[in-house]
Parts: sequence; structure tokens; C-alpha cells
Amino acid sequence: MNMAKPSDGLIVSYTACDEKGSPVQPSYLIHMLCKLFPAVPHRRSADSHSVEEVAAPADRHAVARVCADMLREYAGGRLDPEDKMRLAGLCRIMGSHDDGSTLDAVLNMSCAHYTHTPLSDSIAEGIYGTVMQTSVSRLERFAACAYAHFLSYGLRLRERPEYSFENNDMGDVYHKALEEFSNRVSESGAGWNGLGSEEAAAWADEIMDRLINTYGDTILISNNRNIALSDRLKRIVRRSVDTIRYQVGAGDFIPKFFERGFSESRSFTGEDGAEHTYRLTGKIDRVDICESDENRYLRIVDYKSGNRDFDIAALYHGLMMQLAVYMDAALKITGDTQPAGMLYYHMSDPVVSADADTTDEEAADLVRGELRMKGVVNSDPDIARLMDRTLTAGTGSKVIPLAYKKDNTPQAYSKAYTTDELKLMLEYTEKKMDELSSRIMGGCIEVHPAYMKRSDPPCRWCDYASVCHIASGIPGYERSEYDDDSADIPEAMRRSVKAQKDNNG
Ligand code: SF4
Repeated sequence: MNMAKPSDGLIVSYTACDEKGSPVQPSYLIHMLCKLFPAVPHRRSADSHSVEEVAAPADRHAVARVCADMLREYAGGRLDPEDKMRLAGLCRIMGSHDDGSTLDAVLNMSCAHYTHTPLSDSIAEGIYGTVMQTSVSRLERFAACAYAHFLSYGLRLRERPEYSFENNDMGDVYHKALEEFSNRVSESGAGWNGLGSEEAAAWADEIMDRLINTYGDTILISNNRNIALSDRLKRIVRRSVDTIRYQVGAGDFIPKFFERGFSESRSFTGEDGAEHTYRLTGKIDRVDICESDENRYLRIVDYKSGNRDFDIAALYHGLMMQLAVYMDAALKITGDTQPAGMLYYHMSDPVVSADADTTDEEAADLVRGELRMKGVVNSDPDIARLMDRTLTAGTGSKVIPLAYKKDNTPQAYSKAYTTDELKLMLEYTEKKMDELSSRIMGGCIEVHPAYMKRSDPPCRWCDYASVCHIASGIPGYERSEYDDDSADIPEAMRRSVKAQKDNNG
């Protein structure tokens, strides 16, 4: 309708190519107008007009960026003849624009090169303090990307909070529900093994009803979407307490602590030769202990709303240290205990395939198999059987990530290590934490994200992508590609720990 309103004249324009210079088809409206008004002149503007006519204001920056990218390729001798012609056309147009400022900006952009400039010692100390307060998730964030760590923990850039229920809130609700449930089990004196399934479901529902009606200024009952989500959360918590009841009952480990906080001060010698200190704090979701005739064994469990698994290669690079850090803290808290397992429990209510002949008990077994804990366990069959007494040669466990071949050795997909290897992981993790803390306090803020094939790249969900400019194609921005192969990791950890001991004399 607007096309019929002009009083003096109407100019209809369309783009002949996209921002990369590839041809695009005009809208069907152009064909209609050409048919209706065959005598109206049809003029190409690219050779004679300013950049305002070539690119709409909103696209101009993108065109300038493409132009800068092409200039860099040209300087590197990587531009083919056709693209050279396109680049020449674009430069001509930009050069003819008013005072030529657009071309100047493009030339500046094409020469841009990222170089890492660390924070000075005094700024780093001003931001992080003389004794840095940290957590394992913060150190993992630094290992994944020092710049994202700086923006988050140094500058504290945050998105504006909204009145909504997000994934983090979901984890918070699960943790609160399980903590309350576990305290109630402890107070009842019956223990997890003495708890009936109906009683467990009733307790879980009661706790969840209260949480749903009070959590986050009643956000969970604020609209129909959240009310439907609350039903799901309630179902998941009911399923989880039933599965945890089964997993505890399958072995001899007794849940001892829930949401157990810890705090530890650690020191290291910085590159400047000075002694630095940081304080690490955290909270372990669950600590289980088993007292056998000869030993006391320890297992820690972390509740996750996402399906996370342990990866020793990610631990090696500092990207997944949580279980090792928590196990180390739990061993120090309990004293004189041996590591048996560091595990994740996925809070979920999985759907399994079954046929008409499947009994309720068989279906429940399938669900338990799906909810088998992930992580890493002690490969010693005697210790493993303290976590699942049904585990025999040639069978797999529905409780822990371990299956034995007929000769009683772990199947290849099992995540099982010897006691010495587990202790080595803990020792290596301490060294890794010191190294990462040293780099943070040394002012490292480089844009150098860590990529591993098996895990999500850190840039995928990063809130700071528009701040760091890694996607701009400017040279100097690089990423660390880490090897996913885990076969040699224990040996690499051993060498690294030994080298540190040798250095320390
Ligand atoms: S987008 Fe990637 S490189 Fe940029 S801050 Fe985030 S993680 Fe780091």
C-alpha cells in the first residue's frame, strides 16, 4: 500500500549480491513491477554510487567487515581472481563515500591483530585480592577461557536478571529437595535401607509441594508453563529418591554427609618468586562411607540436572576437576579413608522402551539401568562389590559405571582405575589448581578458548561472544585444541607430578 502513496516519485531498490558478494535473486515484486512498467529505467548502482546505496545502513558494518576480511586474505595471497575483482569494486565504492572514512575504517580493521596483554600485577591484585577466593567451577572456567573468566569474575559482567525460571534454578530446586529429604531420612533413624518406596514417594511429594509454592517469589506457580514444569520436577525428584534408595541398598555404603561444605587455603610460588595464597571453597552433595573389616572407603556423589560424565582427558587440562577436588576434600574431612568412587547422579525421569510382556519390575530395572551413576570408580573387584554386591565376573552394574569380563577384569568402556591411579588424579588436580590460580593472579586474560572433540566448545553457550570478538576473524585469536585420547593420561599425570616434586627438591 505504501508504494501507492509517494507524491513526487518512487525509487525501488534491491540488492544484487549478499554481503559476501555472491549474487542473490531479487524479490518477486521486482519482476511484477518490471512487467507492469516495462518503460521505467532499470539502473545498476554499484559502479557509480556511494556505499549508502550499495548497503542498507544496518548492513554497512557487515559489508565493511567482509571487506576487511577480504583485504587480509588478499595480503596473505589467498584471494582468487574473482574475489580480487569484487574486493576492488567494494574498495572503489567505499573510497568514493563522502570523506572516505568508511574505507579508512575498513583499512584499520584489516590491519587489526589480537595480542594478549596481561593485567599488571597491581591491577590483578586489585581485582582478585591478595588472597583469591575461588571455587572449582571458577578454576574450570579459567581453564576453558581466561577471557571469559576475567569478564565474569574480574569485571563481574552479568546479564540483567529477569523474573524467570532457568536451568540453574532447576538444579537449585533439586539440591534443596534432596538435602531436605536426606536430612529427614537421617532424623527418622531408619536410614535409606529402612525406607519403604511409598513412604519415600510421599516425603518427596510433600517436600516438593512446599518448595514449589515458595521457591523464588512463587515463580513456579506464576504461569501455566511453570506449573507444568513443576509437575515434571516433582516427578523427577520422586524418581530420584526411589533410585537413590535402590543404589544405596545395592551396596554397603552409607550416606554420611549431605551438602557438606569445605574450605582450604593453598599456597604456591609465583613466577615472581613470591608466595601467593588462594582459598578454595565448595560443597559436596553427598559423601558415602563404607566400613569394611580392613578399611574405610569413601564415595562421593554429585547431583547433576544435565547428563555429565567423567573424562580423564578433560581433568588433565583442568576442564573437569570437580569430582577430584571434592574427593580430595572428602578424604581430608573423613581421614584415614580410601577412594572408592567419584560419581555423578543424573536427576532425570527417563523413558525406556518396553513391550507388552515387560513386567513392572523389569521396566523399573530398565529405568535403574538408565540412571546408573556415571563417573569413575575403583577397579578393585572387592571394593566395587561394596557398591554393588550383585557385580560378578561377566556382569555389569546398574549402580556404578563398571562391568567385568569373564576373567574379572573391567570391560573397556568401564571408568575404573586402581587406588594408586585415583590418588594420582587427586595429587595432579592439586597441582593443576595451583597452576591455574597462579596464571589468574599473574593477570592472564587471553582469548584462547580450550576445545576438546568430546565436549561442548566453551564458546557455544558463552554470554561474552559479542565482547571478545573471537568470531571476527581477526588474526591472533586462537583456540587450544586438546587431544581427547585418554590412554596415556595417567602416565602424563605421573610425569607432571614427579617433575613438580623434583623441582621442589
Ligand atoms: S566466546 Fe569463547 S573466546 Fe569469547 S569469551 Fe566466550 S569462551 Fe572466551
